[in-house]
Amino acid sequence: MATTSKTSDTKSPATKKAKTTSKPTGKTGKMENSEFHKFFVDGLKDLYWAEKHLVKALPKMKKASTSPELAAAFEKHTVETQEHIDRLEKVFELLGEKASAKKCDAMEGLLEEADGIIEDTDSGTLVRDAGLILAAQKVEHYEIASYGTLRTFAGNMGHTEVMDLLQQTLDNEKETDVALTEVAETFVNEQAAEE
Ligand code: FE
Ligand code: FE
Repeated sequence: MATTSKTSDTKSPATKKAKTTSKPTGKTGKMENSEFHKFFVDGLKDLYWAEKHLVKALPKMKKASTSPELAAAFEKHTVETQEHIDRLEKVFELLGEKASAKKCDAMEGLLEEADGIIEDTDSGTLVRDAGLILAAQKVEHYEIASYGTLRTFAGNMGHTEVMDLLQQTLDNEKETDVALTEVAETFVNEQAAEE
């Protein structure tokens, strides 16, 4: 069994007593002006844009789906995505920041890809569903990467409550990814291969 190697920092450079300026920020940490904080908030705005556009795209993906199972998965995730938006608004509030969206080029591209799949496949086919699942899982993985990183940033800065909220959404994105794999493996891929 692989034991998770604890990276021992004990052999840090020949500094005497590494000046740990890690001031735990707690409730009202004064890191608000730091570059790291700005980067963090920027990432949240980017995600906010991404979620707000995704919540509009998912019903289209649902409508385009062939199998009722995939349509149901998209419907479920539409509701959950609205919760992600609400959670991000709560996060901005906790940070004392305005909830504003900043265009996310990555999500824009991923949603264009989903549109392209709908255009390039025939309705009523499971090949379309396989393509939609591919597009949707790319979206989920993008969200997982983003929430995972921002959750860790929040922890680094001592924003515990924010970290918890981001973790909740992260967990849901992971569940969604697993659910999509299940739909693919159970209802879609085999039959798509036969079309
Ligand atoms: Fe989301
Ligand atoms: Fe998602």
